[in-house]
Amino acid sequence: MALKLGYLFFWVYDLISNRILSQTIDDLEVSYSNGKQASALPLLYYAINHVPYYQALKNSTVELERFPVVNKEVIRKDQNLFFSNAYSRGGLIKGKTSGSNGIPFYFYWCKNKSLVRTAEIIYYNRWVGYDVGDAHLLNAVGVNKSKLKLFIQKEIIANPRSLSDKWFAQQRKDLIDRKIPYYIGYGSVIDQFSRYCEERGDAKESFNLKGIISTAEQLPEYARQRAESIFGCPVLRRYATLETGVLAHECPEERRLHVNSENYHIEFLKLNSGEPAMPGETARIVVTDLNSYAMPLIRYDIGDLAVIDNRVCGCGRKGVVIKELTGRRADSLIGKQGQTVSWIAISDVMWSFPNIEQFQIIQISRCRFIVNVVSHTGYDKSSLVEKFKALLGGTVDIQLIDVDVIERLDSGKSRVVINEMESYTALT
Ligand SMILES: [Zn+2]
Repeated sequence: MALKLGYLFFWVYDLISNRILSQTIDDLEVSYSNGKQASALPLLYYAINHVPYYQALKNSTVELERFPVVNKEVIRKDQNLFFSNAYSRGGLIKGKTSGSNGIPFYFYWCKNKSLVRTAEIIYYNRWVGYDVGDAHLLNAVGVNKSKLKLFIQKEIIANPRSLSDKWFAQQRKDLIDRKIPYYIGYGSVIDQFSRYCEERGDAKESFNLKGIISTAEQLPEYARQRAESIFGCPVLRRYATLETGVLAHECPEERRLHVNSENYHIEFLKLNSGEPAMPGETARIVVTDLNSYAMPLIRYDIGDLAVIDNRVCGCGRKGVVIKELTGRRADSLIGKQGQTVSWIAISDVMWSFPNIEQFQIIQISRCRFIVNVVSHTGYDKSSLVEKFKALLGGTVDIQLIDVDVIERLDSGKSRVVINEMESYTALT
């Protein structure tokens, strides 16, 4: 067996970090066997004593439901109030993410939180068979690692900020020539890449892939099936965000999204009230990060929507299961009758047009939509308009625009749905 340098480094790093990595990994495993939700109380007590925003709660009973639901905008307004007075900002790890409106949101982690996040990634990578030190290709933007580090970690970085045939050709060559077994990619990049390989007549024998993780963006079920058939390996979805970590991950057995209840307390709340949503109902995802003490995120409305499931998963893991991630709240359209039309329903329409390679739908007003379409082989335009009309409520105006490419954001993500309605953007 070839020496896996990365694996060796992992254990040394774990030892000098007081075994936080291996302990977190063990705790996650135990949590899925007993299905218990880890307690938020230590964090809540800490917050009322050290975080100015929560000082007012000092004299009331300490329970999660008494803490206000916050979001990026609330925190951004006066971020100083959210810092713990027990940390100095200079010693913290600073990260950046962007809200639906593109304004950056800065978050700060203590060392422990950063280690827990690393451990989460290692733990969930194993669900697809990928362990520390295995060769892998990663789609990521803004990663600046030394050649030595990439060599030790057996990592190839492919930045998806700007995609082209040349880009896909390079990624394909890397995977094939270097016999890379694992690929962690953006949902839409995996989709486009599998189409690219399909057009070139690739089959699973062309690759040496053993597992793929789809992250950062949605991957529709049909796109997953195509990728699995071309690459000949499981493709599992990961639900993670930059400011938190891995919130849920699909199991290899049934492909259902198991919530990470060991490191987060996730509430699923109704869209227009603070009441818990019922299974089967579209809900807001409200996260309490149990390991983030420097700038705690407590009852943080992350802006994503999901439907929870009350069916126990056949894989044997216990705890909450997400049935569907229905996308960002900002990435939904509003139909003629005021109904929310989710990303999933839109992608279902597109599924019936296999010649469409990429698309982007923009809602201008309640009755007006623009659809940018990338297709090199043509598609039935009147049929597409009819299907969208049926989905959005009949008498709406839909304008199709053929484009060569749909530009990606700086984060490398592509926005499939954009809602530009004024009353709507104020909500998100
Ligand atoms: Zn499962």
